[in-house]
Amino acid sequence: MKLAKRIGSISPSPTLAINAKAKSMRASGIDVLNFGVGEPDFDTPRHIKEAAVKAIEEGFTKYTEVAGIPELKEAIIHKFQSDNGLSYDPSEILVSCGGKHTLYNLAQVLFEEGDEVIVPAPYWVSYPPIITLSGAKPVIIRTTEDTDFKLNIDDLKNAITPKTKGLILNSPSNPTGSVYSKQELEEIAQIAMEYDFYIISDDIYEKIVFDGINCTCIATLGPEIKSRTFIINGVSKTYAMTGWRIGYMAGSAEVISAATRIQSQSTSNPNSIAQKAAVEAILGPQDHIKMMVEEFEKRRNYFMERLSKMGKVRCFKPQGAFYAFPNFSVCYNRSFKGRKISGSLELADFLLEEARVAVVPGIAFGEDNCIRFSLATSMEHIKKGLDRIEEALFLIEMQDT
Ligand SMILES: *Cc1c(COP(=O)(O)O)cnc(C)c1O
Repeated sequence: MKLAKRIGSISPSPTLAINAKAKSMRASGIDVLNFGVGEPDFDTPRHIKEAAVKAIEEGFTKYTEVAGIPELKEAIIHKFQSDNGLSYDPSEILVSCGGKHTLYNLAQVLFEEGDEVIVPAPYWVSYPPIITLSGAKPVIIRTTEDTDFKLNIDDLKNAITPKTKGLILNSPSNPTGSVYSKQELEEIAQIAMEYDFYIISDDIYEKIVFDGINCTCIATLGPEIKSRTFIINGVSKTYAMTGWRIGYMAGSAEVISAATRIQSQSTSNPNSIAQKAAVEAILGPQDHIKMMVEEFEKRRNYFMERLSKMGKVRCFKPQGAFYAFPNFSVCYNRSFKGRKISGSLELADFLLEEARVAVVPGIAFGEDNCIRFSLATSMEHIKKGLDRIEEALFLIEMQDT
């Protein structure tokens, strides 16, 4: 069959083979410990579910306004005001079917052939394909542990061309857990204004931060930078609502109106019931967030402590989100159980077979030296998983040498 050209630009996820293997191992009864999951392991809080049940029982089950019900837009406006000190009008808010969908709509409206969009790596897997599908070209800037996985300003300046249309920021970051400071964002904002490009600020993990730090959104640094920033957020991670599919965006009314037109001719409104649940999530009791973040922080602490004992494996200490992204390149180009490991895909495959641990190879995020662990799993699993990895890689290594 002859498919459209655009689909040829999207390659299959490099993690597909590993996921399939993990699945078939599990199906044959092997107890694979899964560190691959990108969603909280907590249940959606009860009061949020009840709001959805109420919506169903009251018959709130029909089409709604394409860009989201007024009640939810008001709740989102309230959130921006009270959490970030940012004022938005309802015409500057678009509710979509998840943060990913919001980003997709935005890319369709802002970017086209001939544009370049800067994406710092390690990046969330969906950024490059969403940019590519818009016709624009993702321009990847590599960052490493040496700068806490944050953009080096000179590297940013060097990547800018007359075609640069936007920069994606994700703080706290998936996969690294890195968080930009206010001062670092000020420098980036200065450059965005000087070279005239947009900022896409993916704030989906803004409330999942550790060590008492505060997460700054670049849009709060002044009216000029606010006017060229589009904030992506949603309820998926903060409220353990990944399956409900509610995300939202804030930004200039002109862009929101255009993105709403795209949405109106593709998905129409996001799910009516989930919108009611999202209102309750945003305006209702927030105490479960604290409980969840405390638990993620405990797991991160334990993970870091254990990893520090694994030879030369380096790991940036995540300051937010619920992942760890350790650098296992010390294991590369060496043989374990007669198998040579030369990159993150082979390492992930080895860990799956020999340690029965599923991780996501860093190459999926544009960094082959690392592998991603999701800490959205119980402490008991984390302990067991690290025991197994230690045994598979390090005890064996000692026997071999
Ligand atoms: C999970 C995630 C999103 C959005 O997820 P949705 O479920 O589509 O709301 C956006 N950005 C990053 C970095 C994520 O990890």
